[in-house]
Amino acid sequence: MEEKIPQFLLENLSKQYNEEILKKIIEGYNAKRFVTFRVNTIKTTVTKVEETLIKNNIEYEKVKWSKEAFIVKNVKEDIIKKLDIYINGEIYLQSLSSMIPAIILEPKEGENILDMAAAPGGKTTQIATITNNKSYITATEINKIRADRLKFNIEKQGVAGVNIMIQDARDLDSMFSFDRILLDAPCSGSGTINLNKEKTNQKFNENILEKITKTQTKLLRKAIEILKSGKEMVYSTCSILQSENEDILEKILKEKKAEIIPINIEQFEEIPILKTKLKGTITICPNELYEGFFVAKIRKI
Ligand code: SAM
Repeated sequence: MEEKIPQFLLENLSKQYNEEILKKIIEGYNAKRFVTFRVNTIKTTVTKVEETLIKNNIEYEKVKWSKEAFIVKNVKEDIIKKLDIYINGEIYLQSLSSMIPAIILEPKEGENILDMAAAPGGKTTQIATITNNKSYITATEINKIRADRLKFNIEKQGVAGVNIMIQDARDLDSMFSFDRILLDAPCSGSGTINLNKEKTNQKFNENILEKITKTQTKLLRKAIEILKSGKEMVYSTCSILQSENEDILEKILKEKKAEIIPINIEQFEEIPILKTKLKGTITICPNELYEGFFVAKIRKI
């Protein structure tokens, strides 16, 4: 299976991780990932979802760090998609790792929140549920087709008060100012590779990575510009490459407009963690439950 991993990615990972960790990452790429979902508490309750699963003989497990997150043990996604709770938007299929940035963001009711790279809306709708549908969310998305999907998901999940802007978030007017920002940046997807499922992008190379990291840097710089002073934001990617994560942050931190707020790792004790170059940030190792992910919390000075 290893030959299915783009050579350029493999080279980069071996520069960053020792042989033992690299082996673990490749095992994670090969693992069959469980179906996971999040309960949409705007429309239903955790108890009602549990009752539905039991009634339909669907075995599940919970995680320690979120009441709303479910791991499905004995059926595939297509079975879940036939359930009324899915059709009615009472649950949202989402990877466990991808639920973590919005939890770390700690959005509050009444706040003005920007979700800067928002489609298809997993985290936009999660921010809405955490804030009991009582925050004012602006969701920017550059791709029109993906923005349509975002709109669909927002409506399906019963989320109110989201202002969708189809535009390049790098060009957001500097007159904007937000209480909280989530930048779930476009990335190489190096954490989400699933060798069981899809073909990998063998065209991944130096030029592509350079283009991605330039966009990530510009997006992060813009986020800090339009975040209110003293307020917090989250930078996340589904990549485990330092060049898309710690290196971007280090470059921005040198500009002295923001600082890292260390993430309390104990809150996420059961999550498989990789070593990071920047203290207080987390990199999640891919395995059968988690995708590879990076999350950092930042405060504007
Ligand atoms: N946060 C989303 C979720 O949880 O469902 C996933 C976001 S995905 C990692 C990144 C998104 O950013 C893609 O939909 C992509 O089209 C969008 N994007 C890429 N460059 C952008 C830019 N310059 N401005 C706004 N959106 C951008």
